[in-house]
Amino acid sequence: MKKAVIVGSGIAGIASAIRLRNKGYAVKVLEKNSYPGGKLTQLSGNGFRFDAGPSLFTMPNLVTELFKISGKNPFDYFNFEKLDILCNYFYEDGTKISANSDINIFANQIAQKTTDSAKSVKNHLKKSKFIYGATEKQFLNKSLHKISSFLSFSTLISTLKLPFLTIFSSMNQVNERAFKDPKTIQLFNRYATYNGSNPYKAPGILNIIPHLEFGLGAYLPKGGMHEITNSLVKLAKEIGVEFYFNEEVTTIRIENNLAKSVSTKSANYPADIVICNADIHTVYEKLIPSEKKLKKVDRQERSSSALIFYWGIGKEFPALDVHNIMFTEDYKTEFNHLFDSKTIYEDPTVYINITSKKIKADAPKGKENWFVMINVPSVYNQDWDKIILEARQNILSKISRNLGENIENLIEFEELLTPQLIQDKTNSFKGSLYGTSSNNRFSAFFRHKNFSSKYKNLYFCGGSVHPGGGIPLALYSAKIIDKLIK
Ligand SMILES: Cc1cc2nc3c(=O)[nH]c(=O)nc-3n(C[C@H](O)[C@H](O)[C@H](O)COP(=O)(O)OP(=O)(O)OC[C@H]3O[C@@H](n4cnc5c(N)ncnc54)[C@H](O)[C@@H]3O)c2cc1C
Repeated sequence: MKKAVIVGSGIAGIASAIRLRNKGYAVKVLEKNSYPGGKLTQLSGNGFRFDAGPSLFTMPNLVTELFKISGKNPFDYFNFEKLDILCNYFYEDGTKISANSDINIFANQIAQKTTDSAKSVKNHLKKSKFIYGATEKQFLNKSLHKISSFLSFSTLISTLKLPFLTIFSSMNQVNERAFKDPKTIQLFNRYATYNGSNPYKAPGILNIIPHLEFGLGAYLPKGGMHEITNSLVKLAKEIGVEFYFNEEVTTIRIENNLAKSVSTKSANYPADIVICNADIHTVYEKLIPSEKKLKKVDRQERSSSALIFYWGIGKEFPALDVHNIMFTEDYKTEFNHLFDSKTIYEDPTVYINITSKKIKADAPKGKENWFVMINVPSVYNQDWDKIILEARQNILSKISRNLGENIENLIEFEELLTPQLIQDKTNSFKGSLYGTSSNNRFSAFFRHKNFSSKYKNLYFCGGSVHPGGGIPLALYSAKIIDKLIK
């Protein structure tokens, strides 16, 4: 049986393992941590459970598909619930908008709470759906870099020229043309953060993202996001994938332009195929050092990172739902801080995720598990101790102001995740959440390809390569590799 070795057990590594096993390979996954999932993991304490990384789940079909191709019923392993309320938005002037997944209800709510019409919202979401339809097949489902894909690649380029796709305007410019009210514009600009980008620089084509939520739906797995990892690892083991934890890969050994084996401190694993799920920067810095490739990878701007406080809160707040946003008054200045001066704005936009709203076991009765996150720059020698101290105070006063309650007094449990910790835990270069940013209209084309042109049996998956970061795109990368390997 041919041997496949996978470096890293992030979501794309696990998905690749399942796909290669189904192709008949003997698959070994080598993971530096003692647990699988990379960023998609969990933590708990004092009776509270938290998803440590991703909190928003879209396109569950990309997960269930992995069970189906393995001949299993997905729902014997993994279940999820569609969310009626996508997000509760809070503005500093007291306005609250509850984004219902029903487009009519949402559009009417925008018409009531802002100066924009319901029709303008429906039109905008229609365009979002159009962008998805025009790009999904060619961009998300394929390697952009294979000569055999050249014809469809040129089709893609011509498709991108369609005015509806708006790659020549920024997301904010498109949103300013679509809406009058700064509140609506801010709400739709926020979607740039779903892949760690800046709406004032990222191209308007990123307006595809609202369709993922409003058109395809937002979901919460039963048992929490971590169940995505758990259920897929269970499936992988059942079909014969072998996992090796605390096994950090140090070298991919190359002979005659082929990846021949993968080495860790304790062993050498022969391979017919090697798939790297580790950040592409780590690959060229450490595993197959290449100064030239590293320079190319590092020229691209990284996506934003995150500062997260996991707070066990001793009270329930009916005004909050699973996903909540408390907006800054000055979004542009906030993004200038994140991407230009690489600092944090004193009035940050605060995201609160509370899974205990739906999963009662995630917090003791009468209490809530708050995952409180702000976007922050990736690591550039900042004084993080000082930044974290200031950010904590600013976050607490923002939430307290919005909810009319002193939140600090209610914190019963606290843990922290910083950009440096994200880097240390998962080898994500500079702690960025989504690999490279999309702050340039050509970013999608500069992202690293899913295969090596030099070493025929070496492939790359995960958030730092094509088509990009976030669970759905990481899963697409595994799917693309599956197609590339004959
Ligand atoms: C705080 C946070 C919030 C996020 N929110 C969302 C969200 O709401 N929705 C969403 O879709 N996405 C979100 N994301 C992004 C999403 O988590 C990632 O894009 C996705 O999980 C990346 O998966 P991956 O397969 O690239 O691997 P990663 O999760 O990056 O894992 C890579 C794995 O490789 C291992 N590894 C690295 N180097 C080596 C080595 N040398 N040897 C062995 N193993 C190695 C690492 O330990 C790790 O386990 C968020 C991320 C974070 C951190």
